Amino acid sequence: MIILVVNAGSSSLKYQLINMDDESVLAKGNCDRIGIDGHIAHKAADGRTLDEDCSFPTHTEAFMKLVEALTKSSAKVIDSMDEISAVGHRIVQGADVFDKSVLVTDEVIEKIDELRELAPVHNHAHALALRACKSVIPANVPQVVVFDTAFHQTMPPKAFMFGLPYEDYETYHVRKYGFHGTSHRFVSKALAKAMGKNVEDLKIVSCHLGNGSSITAVDGGKSVDTSMGFTPLDGVVMGTRTGAVDPSAVTFVADKHGFTPSQMSEYMNKKSGFLGVSGVGSDNRDVQSAANEGNKRAQLVSDMLVYEIKKYIGSYAAAMNGLDAILFTGGIGENSWEVREGVCTDMDYFGIKIDKELNRSVRGKLTKLSTPDSKIEVWIVPTNEELLIARDTLELISK
Ligand code: AMP
Repeated sequence: MIILVVNAGSSSLKYQLINMDDESVLAKGNCDRIGIDGHIAHKAADGRTLDEDCSFPTHTEAFMKLVEALTKSSAKVIDSMDEISAVGHRIVQGADVFDKSVLVTDEVIEKIDELRELAPVHNHAHALALRACKSVIPANVPQVVVFDTAFHQTMPPKAFMFGLPYEDYETYHVRKYGFHGTSHRFVSKALAKAMGKNVEDLKIVSCHLGNGSSITAVDGGKSVDTSMGFTPLDGVVMGTRTGAVDPSAVTFVADKHGFTPSQMSEYMNKKSGFLGVSGVGSDNRDVQSAANEGNKRAQLVSDMLVYEIKKYIGSYAAAMNGLDAILFTGGIGENSWEVREGVCTDMDYFGIKIDKELNRSVRGKLTKLSTPDSKIEVWIVPTNEELLIARDTLELISK
């Protein structure tokens, strides 16, 4: 059974074609620069590639090109779209409307579009892509939507409410939603399996650290708190995003620069974080090598990240009244030994001990880093959001 997984943004359409018989990736690619000009980069599992400038006025042309790449190009992997059993789409914001993955209907697309106020960059693009997909992919191929926010719908009100007047929650739905839910769900289950335990019996702090980062308290397989909030701006310092900031500093800085709310949002989302503090760049590798060469601001932002993660671990251990395991995932979590070592150093109070040599030598693979006498297990668990989307899709269409 073959499933197409789609991750649509406002100007891009990333995709993977997955053979669910062995969960292998048959092809992956990206239709980029939609609405600007257009480009496709497509790669089949055997190494054949397609790299071409195209014309993508809308998502519809991008989908048509995707179909052509999969079925007709020199890097094709199937003969016809009839070989595809379903399409699974990643959706950023499902708010409190969607607490699990669902089959796509016209009403579902409408609802996703209505939620665009809560995720202006993403949800409208998702709705456009869903409509485009429906117009290009054969009508008998079911589609499923998987939400970044759904896993966090188990958070209790005391964790998701802000101290704003209650009417703003009732009228404008202002609350913590949390993101990266698909990843946190995937890695917490994978960790339980690796530990030989049931996820229902574990208290886990899941650290998804990438260009965007979020930390989640997973108690008994359910998200009970998470660091990202109303939008993916909250929490720890990120590539270009601030992470948590005193709200008064936001209004103060906006006032000083004469920024409108949207300019301030752009400043905090695109010009801040690693980039803004270090002045070096948004990529952790660049920041880390600048820090290694003695750049103090690069070192500062690396220290900030490590310190903030430690504080989340401490607060989530308190929130869950216990902690069995910490896991690292995402581009930074899976690859940066420096960040993992920093987080796990001076954590004797928790009884956390890792094998430093092992930690320095391993990247991107499922590994237990903690020593046998560590009270809390520490693991690298590679994430695979596309696979979870494909698994959810398969489960829904099998029903
Ligand atoms: P993601 O958003 O999950 O793709 O993660 C992107 C982040 O992971 C970037 O900040 C990269 O610098 C970081 N990253 C990727 N590979 C490495 C590596 N080998 N060492 C350190 N950081 C890495």
